[in-house]
Amino acid sequence: MPRDPRYDILFEPVQIGPVAAPNRFFQTAHASGMGHLRPESHQAMREVKAEGGWGVVTTDYCSIDPSSDDSPYSYLTLWDDEDVRQLARVTEAIHRHGSLAAVELWHGGALSNNRQSRMPLLAPSARPAHYAQPMSARAMDLADIRTLLDAQAAAARRAIKAGFDIVYVYAGHGYLPFQFLSPRLNQRTDAYGGSLANRARLLKEMIEVTGEAVAGRAAVAVRMGVDELAGPDGFTHDRDAPEVLSRIGELPDLWDFCMAGSLGDDSKSARFSEEGFQEQYVAGLKRLTSKPVVSVGRFTSPDRMVSQIKRGIQDFIGAARPSIADPFLPMKIRDGREDEIRECIGCNICRSANNEGVPLRCTQNPTMGEEWRRGWHPERIPTKASEAHVLIAGGGPAGLECAAALGKRGYRVTLADAARELGGRLRFEASLPGLSTWMRVRDHRLHMLSKLDNVDVFLESRMTADDILGFGADHVVLATGSYWRRDGVGSHGEVPITGLDGGAVLTPDDIAAGQAPKGKIVIYDDDHYFMGGALSERFRKMGHEVTFATPAPLVSSWTQMTDEQAFIEQRLREIGVEMATRRKLIAAEADAAIFEHCGTLERHRFDTLVLVTGRLPDTRLHEALIAGDWRGSGIRSVTQIGDCLAPSSIADAVFSGHRYARRLDSVEPEVVGRERPCPPAGPT
Ligand code: ADP
Ligand code: SF4
Repeated sequence: MPRDPRYDILFEPVQIGPVAAPNRFFQTAHASGMGHLRPESHQAMREVKAEGGWGVVTTDYCSIDPSSDDSPYSYLTLWDDEDVRQLARVTEAIHRHGSLAAVELWHGGALSNNRQSRMPLLAPSARPAHYAQPMSARAMDLADIRTLLDAQAAAARRAIKAGFDIVYVYAGHGYLPFQFLSPRLNQRTDAYGGSLANRARLLKEMIEVTGEAVAGRAAVAVRMGVDELAGPDGFTHDRDAPEVLSRIGELPDLWDFCMAGSLGDDSKSARFSEEGFQEQYVAGLKRLTSKPVVSVGRFTSPDRMVSQIKRGIQDFIGAARPSIADPFLPMKIRDGREDEIRECIGCNICRSANNEGVPLRCTQNPTMGEEWRRGWHPERIPTKASEAHVLIAGGGPAGLECAAALGKRGYRVTLADAARELGGRLRFEASLPGLSTWMRVRDHRLHMLSKLDNVDVFLESRMTADDILGFGADHVVLATGSYWRRDGVGSHGEVPITGLDGGAVLTPDDIAAGQAPKGKIVIYDDDHYFMGGALSERFRKMGHEVTFATPAPLVSSWTQMTDEQAFIEQRLREIGVEMATRRKLIAAEADAAIFEHCGTLERHRFDTLVLVTGRLPDTRLHEALIAGDWRGSGIRSVTQIGDCLAPSSIADAVFSGHRYARRLDSVEPEVVGRERPCPPAGPT
């Protein structure tokens, strides 16, 4: 299909100092959990982005010096020639597809860990470490500043040796150069503190030394946090960012604007932000510099992208998450296939991977993070290896992905679901406050299925073992999902709890099925992800008195991994949900929950108790099927996928469905590459 001419503007080249980006699609830096520990994975993942048409592809955050060590997270390093060799392979891979390679040189200052390097933390002024650790950063003296500038210059020279086209100075997300910019974090009284001109001196000098080091062979970019969301006491987008630009706006070759505080403010989940949410902070800044500007905002709609350019908000479409969910987003727009874009749902499972120190993963894109270790490509999948007919029972995330990927391979597929609508768990979960974008997981797959004539879909078709035995499929895939437990067993609750069989006790499944809670509600969350908080929000907004009780020290504690926990807690507090942490449910009476709280017992009265504790796989169909003679009826395999195998996230269900589809008819054992550190060369 020819490209829609409305989108031509997105494919214009843009000059960035001495280099030219081939189009306006700019994959801004994002952590990947790969970094220096998993260089093969990192290289393959960035190459796929370039292949997919991103005109600029940026690395993970890349430390300039061991005094900025983010262990145990897997960041990048440009400390020595070995790093140069590793990163040269990344730039070569990016260049193979005509894209520019950018490196985000990074010094975390008091927002580093230094757990591995054991170097003292550095900061503009002496202060406790930003990560909650019992250690303090020391105030940098002038010799430290000189050392920092030398380290930045040395890293920039190495970046040139490695072949980068754009070299960053990173003054965003609360890292060291931003710590100098912030009036709250910089209490110096010398030439690097006090007035904004002084506080911006370090940034100015870092830009200058970077420019001298790259000497016209690469562009110099600055990523600057424009607002630390601390009101007038902090660095602001309407007072301080414009002043910085008035002073040094022409110094670098490109400005990359982001939020200044934590990464959570920048990569906000869809539950707490709309597409383009940063515009309120960055609008107007582009007018203050003649240099090209980039910023992010979870852009997935080409019309919004065009609007960003035409309204002069930015020159590029900056993207991290949209490029993770669909590395081929630019190419799909280029080829008039924008309907095929796998739109980011803003769930932040990608953030959780880095926060947990494992390689990147994505709910929408099951191949993300698997480019090298499993050899998966987001757009290519081997064609079928037989004429097998596959029957899939269950059209939730796992069944849908399995059907779409098998269909793409060319297999004949029948997908049957008991419900009137496809989507499985998404039908309810996407109806919860702030989670409507999650339905994109279903809708994208439905759309792709609608293009295939080898996949038949049957709704309102609850399959029994007899139905399956008589169906005539070669392979049977069971994707029947899971259900919420009623016995109170959860992460902290090891054994079933007495008294939970009364009518006043509901699970999320009951609520999904239309049962309305009454009166005062106690929600007991021993699951720790989104469900407990989302139900609390829903019922409080309906006017119920709600207590959110959890044995964890924080509400929705696992959402720290998706950078959402603080936002969830704030929202629940704002709407008047009572929060009771460190409460472990030990028994229930007809109208009261008995909690153990730090060694004492507490009684919380309820009209309805909602249990969000754990899920059990729905294995009924599987058990009935394998009890009979399925082989005798010509079926070659019966396989469970997704939540009916082991209940987990939507991302894991999609992954499971995709993995089955990739593996069908494989005779070779599955290869999952492992990256091992190379021992230093020496006598053997
Ligand atoms: P997953 O996350 O693993 O995809 P879901 O719970 O989202 O699981 O989806 C399971 C789907 O399976 C639901 O849409 C449900 O209606 C369907 N289902 C469950 N049992 C059967 C069955 N026996 N026959 C057909 N569909 C079924
Ligand atoms: Fe978007 Fe979720 Fe994928 Fe991250 S994991 S890129 S937020 S869909």
